Amino acid sequence: MNLRIPGPTPCPEDVLLAGAQQMIDHRGPEFADIIARVHTGLQTIFSTANDVAILTSSGTGAMEGAIVNTLSPGDRVMNVSIGVFGERFGQIAEAYGAEVVKPHTEYGSAADPDMVGSMLADDPTIKAVLVTHNETSTGVTNDIGAIAKVVRSHDRLMLVDAISSVGCVPVQTDAWDLDVVVTGSQKGFMVPPGLAFAAVGPRAREAAKTATMPRFYFDFEKHFSYFERGQTPWTPAVSVMFSLDLAIEKLLADGMEAVYTKHAKIASDVRAGVKELGLELFVKDEAYASNTVTAVKVPEGVELSKLRGLLRSDRNVVVAGGQGSLDGKIFRIGHMGHITDEDVADVMESLADVLPRAGFPVPA
Ligand SMILES: *Cc1c(COP(=O)(O)O)cnc(C)c1O
Repeated sequence: MNLRIPGPTPCPEDVLLAGAQQMIDHRGPEFADIIARVHTGLQTIFSTANDVAILTSSGTGAMEGAIVNTLSPGDRVMNVSIGVFGERFGQIAEAYGAEVVKPHTEYGSAADPDMVGSMLADDPTIKAVLVTHNETSTGVTNDIGAIAKVVRSHDRLMLVDAISSVGCVPVQTDAWDLDVVVTGSQKGFMVPPGLAFAAVGPRAREAAKTATMPRFYFDFEKHFSYFERGQTPWTPAVSVMFSLDLAIEKLLADGMEAVYTKHAKIASDVRAGVKELGLELFVKDEAYASNTVTAVKVPEGVELSKLRGLLRSDRNVVVAGGQGSLDGKIFRIGHMGHITDEDVADVMESLADVLPRAGFPVPA
């Protein structure tokens, strides 16, 4: 199956097989070796010297951790949301009692750093800014470096959901001076779901000392204190750690610059391919188009369920639909992690094959 959803992503065979090893003592020396190696690799991939908490959860658990470790009920936070995952970040903060304010943004566009700056200037009580690096629901990548510069100049915390960008698109945690950056195992890492990671900077760790949101499972300081002993506080997803260990080794052997270049090229090929078919990208300004997922407008008269059904049944190609208010209006082609030029060509040939049957004549 050509699984082209934006996570979980296909995994290389050897990464899957690595996960099929016998269990080990998660409080023994073998695990200590693995977690030390994985942690160093994560620091390289996050471009950070900060400690990275390794959590057993999906990415959303790390988003929750970013919030509950740094904030207190009643804190004002700015949620710079440009899509469904941005909304989720704000919902988590609200669930724990934060007061969430939201600048106006439009689905399909990136967030405007100047707007973030003027809102922060107007409201000195905003303690933290929540922002998605790559909004998987719309196929748009924010300029995190520019937003971070503004947030830093106003001295607020910046919590970043980089779940669909880490390991595919450069995330300069230290150069951009980001406070918490989170991701999960099943997107750019080419590893099955089950682990999430949070790079936590010094300001965030200082904030944790006075933050009063309730936390236990996702208490970052507990994770860091156990890490010193080569462990996690709770039983980790050991099999996923085996796979991750190998996947990181493979990524670093390829070199992160080469991995980023490959994602940029594949994404550019996907965008060119869909436009050649006469389809339109959902992103308003292609300069902000995501290098990990491409959102495509469903053409007038085409029923998306029929299009996706034909791709699946006749071509063994699985693409994602739209989420929330974009349901039925866009479809999304995932191209993060393990993907080849042949996979891209197969998606384009398959679209050319089934689109006419779904009611859209493809240009010759
Ligand atoms: C996939 C994704 C999430 C959710 O992660 P889960 O692992 O499903 O909890 C959040 N944010 C972004 C940007 C994502 O791509």
